[in-house]
Amino acid sequence: MQITEIYKSIQGESTYAGLSCIFVRLTGCNLRCSWCDSEYTFTGGHRMTMEEVLEEVEHLSPGGGLVEITGGEPLLQEREAVPLMQHLLDDGYTVLLETSGERPLERVPKGVVKIVDVKCPNSGEGDTFHLENLEALDSGDEVKFVLSDRTDYEFARDFVAQHRLAGRVNAVLFSPAFSKDAGGGRDASHCLLDPRELAEWMLADNVPARLGLQIHKFIWDPAMKGV
Ligand code: SF4
Repeated sequence: MQITEIYKSIQGESTYAGLSCIFVRLTGCNLRCSWCDSEYTFTGGHRMTMEEVLEEVEHLSPGGGLVEITGGEPLLQEREAVPLMQHLLDDGYTVLLETSGERPLERVPKGVVKIVDVKCPNSGEGDTFHLENLEALDSGDEVKFVLSDRTDYEFARDFVAQHRLAGRVNAVLFSPAFSKDAGGGRDASHCLLDPRELAEWMLADNVPARLGLQIHKFIWDPAMKGV
């Protein structure tokens, strides 16, 4: 499979935020979100066999732990990514899969925690979520909305209510988008939507969602890769 990078860091998002995690970042994406912070994954990378990836994960986190399969869009390489996830599960790892919601989910191995985006209008990739994916969600999965303004927030709030998302999954995540040019300071001024404003909207509307900040961007410089 084509791999951009494999590294160990602190998980910055989801209900697993704060835990040590191995990131396996696959190359390539078929979307172009306006605020994407992973454009460096669109091309390049290097070929690795599944055995080489497993070996590197084992080297970074011997005997188990948390592994996230991410990208880019990892399910573009489903033929290799699915057996990789199954092997990691069999080896005792907790496996997270970050995916855009645009790819079908039914072949993702049972036991993998799917963290699935629903793209909002201002991402430039609204309407790419496959509604059939709602049926593939399990009670351990998480659904994430990255928000850059009030229009995105209202879209997400209404989507959550319309599809009764909170009852389907472990967590619904509302996360302010970060400026993709952010760098130099580790603070909320780089968020395209002020987290305080988002928090106040969520409280006013009693939204059954969790406000998520990308904590790795507050620990390290937001421009830093490989963290
Ligand atoms: S789906 Fe993810 S990697 Fe692809 S463009 Fe959007 S944010 Fe970037």
